[in-house]
Amino acid sequence: MGYVNGLKCRECGREYPVDPIYVCEFCFGPLEVVYDYKKIKKALTRKNIEKRAKNLWRYRELLPIDGEPQVGLQSGFTPLIKADNLAKELGIKELYIKDDTVAHPTLSFKDRVVAVALTKAKEFGFDTVACASTGNLAHSVSAQGARAGFRRFVFIPATLEPSKIVASLVYEPHVVAVDGNYDEVNRLCSEIANKYKWAFVNINIRPFYAEGSKTQGFEIIEQLGWMAPDNVVVPCASGSLLTKIWKSFKEFKEIGIIKELGTKVFAAQATGCSPISTAVKQGTDAIRPVKPDTIAKSLAIGNPADGYYALRIVEESGGFAEDVSDEEIIKGIKLIAKSEGIFAETAGGVTLACTRKLIEAGKIGRNETTVICITGNGLKTQEALNGHTVSPHYIKPNLAFFEEVLKKIGH
Ligand SMILES: *Cc1c(COP(=O)(O)O)cnc(C)c1O
Ligand SMILES: [Zn+2]
Repeated sequence: MGYVNGLKCRECGREYPVDPIYVCEFCFGPLEVVYDYKKIKKALTRKNIEKRAKNLWRYRELLPIDGEPQVGLQSGFTPLIKADNLAKELGIKELYIKDDTVAHPTLSFKDRVVAVALTKAKEFGFDTVACASTGNLAHSVSAQGARAGFRRFVFIPATLEPSKIVASLVYEPHVVAVDGNYDEVNRLCSEIANKYKWAFVNINIRPFYAEGSKTQGFEIIEQLGWMAPDNVVVPCASGSLLTKIWKSFKEFKEIGIIKELGTKVFAAQATGCSPISTAVKQGTDAIRPVKPDTIAKSLAIGNPADGYYALRIVEESGGFAEDVSDEEIIKGIKLIAKSEGIFAETAGGVTLACTRKLIEAGKIGRNETTVICITGNGLKTQEALNGHTVSPHYIKPNLAFFEEVLKKIGH
């Protein structure tokens, strides 16, 4: 009943059975899920999809599970918003926001990958789930893992925003705050994953987990009326989301759901952690790891696991990459809020500010259709805006005081 053929090394092509494994034993290349597209082509049509519940499992034939979905039955199918105010502000004709700020249940796109990872972890028979996280992944593993009845360990850099730590603690997982940056947390977790029989969603079951990101791409195409956009701008941490959005577009073409695919893929990063955009701009294939220093902590991966593949897709599709300063990130957050009423986290500020630069540089055409992926909610990173917002008008509970305010603002 499944549609998965197995796993395959992205480097040497060696094939593996469906197991909780993630690297090739021979060349250490990453493993990728391979599907039977002929079979899927018969089972998955626009009509079938449209009849199904509005969650990410409506594309289940293209997700790596064997049985019924068990986690995330309310996740996915977030709004695609036609952002006319923002388009005007940026001087382009057609702009859409893929709005994962309202993802269920933890308000970031990580709810997609975790829904798939935990369903797969159940199929594999794990009782404990874990992750190395820059914040949002820890929230989703903590929350969805609680509901699904797993024991949970989440590992984070101790320097995360305090509100991001609370947003994990409330679900009472074991939160391990490590004195080190994400790359050090990740290295520690690889060691732990080798020793203990736990499902580390982004380590030993990463090939399955990462497939969940494709649902954002499937939804973009469906919500545009079964059409791929001219441009898509994607924020990059490990680079996985970008590679999977591209994979989703290619798969819809492969199984005949769309006829044409000419999308250019753009990568967005913070200048304080920009190994991918730096390599794209320099025209090299070599990603040079960096030590992150940016307010966009959810994107602060200095040694991105999928960086090389993200870079190749940017080049293959004819896209480009950009990066922006902390100041530009804050301006970006405020612009989406003011123009479209959406409060995005720092990663959203990165995406918007990079989009502006790409338009100004002529990399994104002003008469084309552009989708920007806004991946997390601003209520989680309010600290970033301290001292950068307008101030309240403080008054006594008395009409005269209020009317003084009105006078002051020129009403
Ligand atoms: C994790 C994350 C991303 C991107 O993650 P990848 O590792 O590149 O897949 C983007 N935005 C937010 C808010 C995230 O939490
Ligand atoms: Zn290999």
